[in-house]
Amino acid sequence: MSKDKERITLLHGAGGKLMHELVEQYILKHFAVSTVKVSEFSVPLEALDDAAVVGDMVLKSDSHAVKPIFFPGGDIGRLAVCGTVNDIAVLGAEPTALACGFVLEEGLLISDFERILASMEKACEEAGVSVVTGDTKVVEKGSLGGCVINVSGIGKRSQALENNLRVVRQHRPEFRARWILDSNLHAGDKIILSGTIGDHGLAVLSAQQGLSFGSSIVSDVRPLNRLIIRLLDEVGGIVAMKDPTRGGLADALNEWSQKSQVGILIYEDRIPIKPSVQAACEMLGIDPLEVGNEGKIIIGVIPEKAEHVLEVLKSMEEGKDAEIIGEATMEFDMVAMQTLVGGKRIIAQPVGDPVPRIC
Ligand code: MG
Repeated sequence: MSKDKERITLLHGAGGKLMHELVEQYILKHFAVSTVKVSEFSVPLEALDDAAVVGDMVLKSDSHAVKPIFFPGGDIGRLAVCGTVNDIAVLGAEPTALACGFVLEEGLLISDFERILASMEKACEEAGVSVVTGDTKVVEKGSLGGCVINVSGIGKRSQALENNLRVVRQHRPEFRARWILDSNLHAGDKIILSGTIGDHGLAVLSAQQGLSFGSSIVSDVRPLNRLIIRLLDEVGGIVAMKDPTRGGLADALNEWSQKSQVGILIYEDRIPIKPSVQAACEMLGIDPLEVGNEGKIIIGVIPEKAEHVLEVLKSMEEGKDAEIIGEATMEFDMVAMQTLVGGKRIIAQPVGDPVPRIC
């Protein structure tokens, strides 16, 4: 098809290969820092990390168009706050303030809008952040499904981050990064997953399709900044962190592998997954590794600190199911999984999340 006839599809918004191509081929072409010569960006747009760094300030913007706006375990408001808070926190920053833009659809119940606002208020309290500016627009009845919410936010360097980097350098003197980045992973680093995968995507899918998986599948959406600060402060040694949202664990690990130029080996028997999520995925023919999460992080940590990070994670409610799921390696340059039967399979970057509009 000729290029001027191509149109946006739902897959362009689903994490994975097509979304990365859209960003790289079109958005970077116009906005990459090298084209506007801004030198104070220490983590620029083209790093395509979870957030950018301008001077010593971390900046992030994230729009949410989840369908439906209420789902088991959460709603669009909680999702919007947590998404931005977590993207700022995984760089090692402390989120401080949020800006919120609402696009409301004509016909949305005011009571539903207020339910969303109350949920955002609660998520802000949990994360210790405030909404300090924003905007509201209303559009004609159509396919928004009620509303779309953008939350942008800023974060600052923290003492916890400095402590973390000091611990990394004690063991790896050549380590120079000032932030926790996708490109920092090094052969031998351990990969920790903070809890079970697939819960959020399956919870939204059940609401979309009117499927009932019983009460056991609920979204994991939650702010993770307090947990992250505690790990950086009490333990340290963390070099990379990421929230495996759209495209799931498979997409997040592939991003790390490509940006850090290392292979990643994970072990199927160590990946925490609820039996109910596993069963639902098998029934629907969905790979749980490709399903989005909203309350989990993957952590790349120097091997000397892996057990200690795991121990602190397990002591907290939001990390109680954490496991060391694998390690970075120079033996190959892709993501591979040792399966339950002892073979190895390549974990490719997904084309897109198997569940549409999950965030
Ligand atoms: Mg992220």
